[in-house]
Amino acid sequence: MNENQLSKRLERAGELVPFGSRLADIGSDHAYLPVALMLQGKIEFAVAGEVVQGPYQSAEKQVRKNGLSEKIIVRLADGLDAVLAEDHINAVSICGMGGTLIRDILEKGRVTGHLNGQEVLILQPNVGEQVLRQWLTAQGYTILAEDILEENQKIYEIICAEKKEVLADYSEEELMFGPLLLQKKGAVFIKKWQREVNQRKNVVEQLNKSKVNQQEKIADLEKEINAIEEVLKS
Ligand code: SAM
Repeated sequence: MNENQLSKRLERAGELVPFGSRLADIGSDHAYLPVALMLQGKIEFAVAGEVVQGPYQSAEKQVRKNGLSEKIIVRLADGLDAVLAEDHINAVSICGMGGTLIRDILEKGRVTGHLNGQEVLILQPNVGEQVLRQWLTAQGYTILAEDILEENQKIYEIICAEKKEVLADYSEEELMFGPLLLQKKGAVFIKKWQREVNQRKNVVEQLNKSKVNQQEKIADLEKEINAIEEVLKS
């Protein structure tokens, strides 16, 4: 992968970044996303934030190699600490991490004021999408777009959200499956949730063989299996 040929996952995330954005890409290993979007002329300015020295240096190198050092600032920082008020950031992307870590980065950013609540968020959790949607909803965000795709046998979801005056009121089902993905129920969505059912059924099978009483865990999993199967057949 390079800045001209993004992975399908980052390409789709990039499509959700609004034209002309001032973007903060947090966890920006190699700065692939901001560099590609800048080369496409899609963004005006970017901060590439990295907390680990090695990926930070790779990001710096990539930005320099493309002659973009004046338009993309690479900062070694934890989460949204990379964003300064003078950057006038209006879009934040956080891709390729677990949903819980993305939520924690957003929450810390909210508490410290580095996330001012006016930004469009483009989030690509590898797992833990439900946790992230719960945080977004609790903080008054509305999900503007969602995408799901398969790459190298892995299935990824992308969530784009923004704060709106009218609060979104998502059901438990929408938080689990994604309100927009649920409306569409495309082929990759079906594949993901069939996989999830099979995984849970395997776990139930193993728990049933256990010598320790696992009835509570089994009941929880069966409840989830039923909920998923309902969605798949409706
Ligand atoms: N965003 C890129 C992508 O989607 O291909 C890189 C994903 S990589 C798996 C996750 C990156 O996030 C790593 O480079 C890691 O160092 C960085 N990271 C993890 N926690 C972070 C934090 N709190 N602040 C900034 N970067 C972080």
